[in-house]
Amino acid sequence: MNEIILAKIGEVVLKGLNRKNFEDLLIKNIKRRLHPLGAFEIKASQSTIRIKPLDDNIDMDDVADKVGKIFGIVAYCRACAVEKDIEKIKSASIEYLAPILEEAKSFKVESKRSDKKFPYGSPEISKIVGSHIADSFPNIEVDVHNPEVTVTVEIRDMGAYIHADALEGAGGLPIPSGGRAGILISGGIDSPVAAYMMAKRGVELTAIHFASPPYTSDRAEEKVRTLLEIVAQYAGRIEMYTVPFTKIQEEIKEKCPEDLFTIIMRRMMMKVSQKIAEQHECMALITGESLGQVASQTMGAIACTDEAADMPVFRPLIGMDKKEIIRISEKINTFETSLLPYEDCCTVFTPKHPRTKPKLEMVRRAESAVEWDELIEEAVNNTKFTEIYP
Ligand code: ATP
Ligand code: MG
Repeated sequence: MNEIILAKIGEVVLKGLNRKNFEDLLIKNIKRRLHPLGAFEIKASQSTIRIKPLDDNIDMDDVADKVGKIFGIVAYCRACAVEKDIEKIKSASIEYLAPILEEAKSFKVESKRSDKKFPYGSPEISKIVGSHIADSFPNIEVDVHNPEVTVTVEIRDMGAYIHADALEGAGGLPIPSGGRAGILISGGIDSPVAAYMMAKRGVELTAIHFASPPYTSDRAEEKVRTLLEIVAQYAGRIEMYTVPFTKIQEEIKEKCPEDLFTIIMRRMMMKVSQKIAEQHECMALITGESLGQVASQTMGAIACTDEAADMPVFRPLIGMDKKEIIRISEKINTFETSLLPYEDCCTVFTPKHPRTKPKLEMVRRAESAVEWDELIEEAVNNTKFTEIYP
């Protein structure tokens, strides 16, 4: 059996004149992602990308798993490719789909003939293949209204394909059609989800992580790297910058009022992140903040945090409940890792009673007790670079 994958291009097809660029990006991304698995022929035609393995020993389960994580693909099917010959189509359909048809109670056949040279029309193909399946699997009935399995026969220019129902793709837009942004990543549940959500909109990620040794450990940093490796299965290669944040935090603790520790720390995170982002051609920052989740994420606190940065700050989780965020983190498989109990710099020197409605004027006055520029410069200059691969 020659198994291939047919990937349906999503929103990409709506992009008018840009469509070609989006399609090219998507193909490039598919090639890059599948490269470690072997050689493939990857071709686009009629809003479908056909992925054909060229080596015999390629594991199609691995291929399908990777294809399911590429943004820009709305749906994909594993299909059997056969010659455009009705007898071969009949026998391939029962052989290839046997594992599914043996289990199912009802089915129907749909045919799409885009190669008009094929001698049978679509309804005829469906009828011929349908009765062959019904004869071969006595346990299964035809149900044209609500079938458990829809068998599709596609007669295209490139060949004939047989497949069962399509699987849901990752959706979104191909990376880097959305530009590059800096994701402020902690080891928590939220920021990996925020990273995934922006990558889904075609954003290429540069990760920025703040570490405060000895208050935070190597294992905490390792955990962040593991989370990014999982996100990279969707987002592709990620550049990670780890910022030494201890001095800034100690300075805040020593010189600023306790109820404003967190908000001032968050403002400093934004200032450092903006500098790193600018050095690496990011046009925006991303955080995992969700309105009202903690004291530093009230509208007033977010306004104070936002004011510290001069670039757009995207907060894709802003309107989501924790439950909804957890559901995504389970889906993308970051949840278990996020639960590991390592410390984050945000939990170092946390005030007993953080101010939930900080006023910008008050925060600025408190901040003026420290000469920040040099400290920020030093943190940026001593940032450590690592590359993260899926
Ligand atoms: P998360 O689950 O993402 O850690 P959280 O609910 O714990 O979020 P906070 O700790 O207040 O919330 O952090 C809010 C946001 O600030 C995070 O989503 C992340 O974008 C950023 N952030 C927090 N800690 C760090 C860190 N050590 N390095 C980089 N960014 C951080
Ligand atoms: Mg956190």
